[in-house]
Amino acid sequence: MAISKVCVIGSGVMGSGIAAHVANAGVPVLLLDIVKDGPDRSAIARGAIDRMLKADPAPFMSSAAAKLVTPGNLEDDLAQIAECDWIIEAVVENLDIKKTLYEKLEGVRKPGSIVSSNTSTMPLAILTAGRSEGFQRDFLITHFFNPPRYLRLLELVAGPKTRADAVAEIDAFADYKLGKGVVRCKDTPGFIANRIGTYWIQAAVNEAMDLGLSVEAADALASKPMGIPKTGVFGLIDLVGLDLMPLIAKSMAMTLPKGDDFLRISRTPPLFQKMIAEGFTGRKGKGGFYRLNEKRQKLAIDLKAGDYHPAGKVKLEAIERAGRSLKVLATDASTEGEYVKRVLVQTLGYVASLVPEISDDITAVDEAMRLGYNWTYGPFELIDQLGADWLAEQLGDKAPAILKQASGGFYKVDGGTLHALALDGSYKPVVRKDGVLLLADVKRAGKPLLKNGSAALWDIGDGVVCFEFTAKMNSLDGDVLKLLGETVAFVQMKGLKGLVVYNEGSNFTVGANLGLALFAANIALWPAIEELVAGGQAAYKALKYAPFPVVGAPANMALGGGCEILLHCDHVQAHAESYIGLVEVGVGIIPGWGGCKELLARQFAEKRRPQGPMPPIAKVFETISTAQVSRSAALAKELGYLRASDGITMNRDRLLADAKAAVLEMAKNYTPPAPPEFRLPGPTAKVAMDMAVDGFRQQGKATPHDETVSKKLSTVLSGGDTDVTEILSEDDLLTLERTAFMQLAKTPQTLARMEHMLSTGKPLRN
Ligand code: NAD
Repeated sequence: MAISKVCVIGSGVMGSGIAAHVANAGVPVLLLDIVKDGPDRSAIARGAIDRMLKADPAPFMSSAAAKLVTPGNLEDDLAQIAECDWIIEAVVENLDIKKTLYEKLEGVRKPGSIVSSNTSTMPLAILTAGRSEGFQRDFLITHFFNPPRYLRLLELVAGPKTRADAVAEIDAFADYKLGKGVVRCKDTPGFIANRIGTYWIQAAVNEAMDLGLSVEAADALASKPMGIPKTGVFGLIDLVGLDLMPLIAKSMAMTLPKGDDFLRISRTPPLFQKMIAEGFTGRKGKGGFYRLNEKRQKLAIDLKAGDYHPAGKVKLEAIERAGRSLKVLATDASTEGEYVKRVLVQTLGYVASLVPEISDDITAVDEAMRLGYNWTYGPFELIDQLGADWLAEQLGDKAPAILKQASGGFYKVDGGTLHALALDGSYKPVVRKDGVLLLADVKRAGKPLLKNGSAALWDIGDGVVCFEFTAKMNSLDGDVLKLLGETVAFVQMKGLKGLVVYNEGSNFTVGANLGLALFAANIALWPAIEELVAGGQAAYKALKYAPFPVVGAPANMALGGGCEILLHCDHVQAHAESYIGLVEVGVGIIPGWGGCKELLARQFAEKRRPQGPMPPIAKVFETISTAQVSRSAALAKELGYLRASDGITMNRDRLLADAKAAVLEMAKNYTPPAPPEFRLPGPTAKVAMDMAVDGFRQQGKATPHDETVSKKLSTVLSGGDTDVTEILSEDDLLTLERTAFMQLAKTPQTLARMEHMLSTGKPLRN
């Protein structure tokens, strides 16, 4: 049975977020909660949807998705459950309430519909006790992570009676439609990620207190150096809520096997009890370990005295001494080194002791921590960085046996393929799910076809090649442009089918390398800058008119020059979480690599546009002059950065395969696009845009330099000195872009914007 309608019961934090994400996949959802007395009996679920529409980060990827969620209540709308193929229970973590609800469901759901619980702590056997055979066959646990749109992990637990085809169906839906990394778990307390995460949090808190570290120092250590998000440990507790800590500890104490090491380390310090009692539970309360004062200054708590002080940026020498080596940090002869060692030795020793109890597969454990807690490395990958022998030595006679087997590493590369240690002590190839293609695997198996300091070209099979940005933060520079030119020639020379522009960095690209541009500008190397602008225009044009299909496949940020390269691709296959935008005005310039030209051409090509040239010009002007960045791939379509026909892939691991398939499809019958021609109004259109800018200046919404930049932009978009009787070519537009770009680059205000962006990461409003 295909899943074409879903019901989510419970519209709290998780239920509403899950409903929104199912809607993001384009599937209609019925969201039910208990009846609220009053005129609107579905007010609880409706209120949850209203809150989500205002929430940041947004649970919905588009307003169209929001329309797919229908609120209701568990009395009046119960019969509608019969229309649903998957019923997700996300009500309060209370066994009686869940069991009563399941009993109700027995009577109303259609035969064969799948029921799952989002429980964090309750064993499946207890949830289904007393239910019919049919219910037990259709039941499983689907454990989402908060927030459901953004955290990629889905833990899936089947019972002994659960139908294998129901499990497979939910697995496939979650993988392809919801974009989840599905990890099959055993029915053990906290499954995989929370079992490990809760232990890690407790160990990191205990050791900070025992060693007398400040919360800032502990968070600086228990974050980037370990490949853990920058919230660290105290920041993470503030995020999830300090009040949950004792509750989780209590529930773990009830369900964990006797002798589990978490029971040894579990404690709630008096300071935490006091903070909870006084409402300092974190971001949802009055603040927690960190909080903002009335002047919005960040304060941090003193773990000994319990009072707050301004949170300083900590610079720890141990971290600097270690460079990028975790092992050096963990063996550094300082309190900081001791902290890292104690936290890692306990946590990783605990994880090693849990195999095979929580999983037979170390790769599943690593995946769960990467996707559920956003760790860069899974625990077994971390052990490999430290050495299993070293870890075993630290643990002494408590060392789990698996560490001895892993003397040669939990992972190793053999014949270009990644292998992982299996329970029987052998190494087995790490098998990706069907249809998944990862550039990381391609890179492990061979050498690039072309390469320089900022980019590389890889063979991804079947006559398709992949262009990868490789500079720091995937920024774009002259080397990227040079290799793009060589790539176009290479693909033709070898008679290949086409090209994908893709990478597996944390961002597709943040745009051109500002540091380089600023350096050149500071020493007035104007010809070099102009050459870079012209070089980018030429490279992107060559890509656009190459005699083979080019597919851009971004994920996360694709800004500035990164957005412009996508605008020149024949097709874009975007990850659903693609944040695309022409943000050049933020650093005092305008898009100079064909961004103005392409966006304009697209707006003119739109069939539904009202009469006359002004509406499309005004739309592009607004988009670029306000540096709009899409908050999702769906919204990038609304902004015009993506075409309606561009594809969206929900699962990050399937993006490259989807992009490659698009190339192969287009290659069957490919002709390059015809160059656009423009009829633009010239000065009359410029006056209209400039008047709008003057208005914004008067209202204080635009700064003096915003005005300068916007008025250069209006010159480009209006076509310069022209009128509608004249036809402008693509090159005419590129010349206008380049001229405006160079004029702006020579202003001190633009240089000040660039400098500010480089040093603070934020735009300067001068
Ligand atoms: P919540 O308190 O935010 O929401 C619970 C919802 O259940 C509320 O909307 C409430 O009105 C509704 N409810 C209460 N009584 C009900 C009843 N008798 N019938 C139907 N609905 C009823 O809780 P939550 O954090 O969203 O947790 C929901 C489930 O998800 C729990 O099982 C929890 O363990 C699990 N979970 C939570 C998280 C998390 O981070 N919060 C993460 C993963 C799993």
